[in-house]
Amino acid sequence: MSDIAPHGLHHVTAIASDPQRNVDFYTRVLGLRLVKQTVNFDAPDTYHLYYGDTQGTPSTILTFFPWRDVPSGRQGSGLTTATAFSVPPESMGWWQRHLTGLGLELDGPRTRDGEEVLTLRDPDGMVIDLVAATGDARSGWDGVAGVPAEQAVRGLHSVTMSERLPEATAELLSTTLGMRLQGEDGDRARFAMGAGGAGAVVDVAADSRPRGLQAGGTVHHIAFRASDQATQARWRQELVEAGLRVTEIIDRQYFTSIYFHEPGGVLLEIATDQPGFTVDEPLLELGRSLKLPPWLEPSREQIAAALPPLRVDAPVESS
Ligand code: ZN
Repeated sequence: MSDIAPHGLHHVTAIASDPQRNVDFYTRVLGLRLVKQTVNFDAPDTYHLYYGDTQGTPSTILTFFPWRDVPSGRQGSGLTTATAFSVPPESMGWWQRHLTGLGLELDGPRTRDGEEVLTLRDPDGMVIDLVAATGDARSGWDGVAGVPAEQAVRGLHSVTMSERLPEATAELLSTTLGMRLQGEDGDRARFAMGAGGAGAVVDVAADSRPRGLQAGGTVHHIAFRASDQATQARWRQELVEAGLRVTEIIDRQYFTSIYFHEPGGVLLEIATDQPGFTVDEPLLELGRSLKLPPWLEPSREQIAAALPPLRVDAPVESS
């Protein structure tokens, strides 16, 4: 099915607790743009917050369901255990100073697959890798006072799926999803999509730990890019024929989606590049106010009243 193979990561969705703390960390510490403030369409009493580059381009997007009273998750097998962002190679020293200056504990940098990797945790304990990636032409978001444009996060780099039976996951990625095995390093295998490189990489790590607990500070699912809805529909058909249980195509307002589980238990999604985040508000206004899809708009008053207030224009404090 290489003709419809994914051409990169679309987004990663994770679980947080306090929404304000989540916004403050991802916008002011990592310098991402809040590109959409909406609700979980399947449970509209919870926010769904989207971060990314200026436009929220697919491959730059990290999203959260902030459930205020969620318990902390536990790392282990059957989970996406790290989400990596791409930063310019020469920015690693700046990031170390910036993050240390804000009181964050860092692990590294160490070298993986020829690139420097710095690891930190967000306020809910989610593992974030910053990878000094060469040849990443994406420009990131330059609208944050505390993070200069030349150091800005460029977008997602890769994800790490931790698996007790990595061969079964590798088989799905390579055979059914058409990804290329790019290299192996100890217990870790790297798969590339499309042109490969930052934003188009999945690492599968052998992990003998017990199954992880998906809750606060863990990844909920990862999504791959389909160029359009026709490709997505063909893809769905191929996955069904391969024996996977796949959802119907679901309207997520900013893209359409299908979901299925890989053999180790990680929830995967295939999402379309279109229509994107400017479908319901102008580029300059992205993320400033609560947006709802047409089918939830009649309940706006009730939905908004149940959500905690969110400050999204907080001034950036100098560190
Ligand atoms: Zn998703």
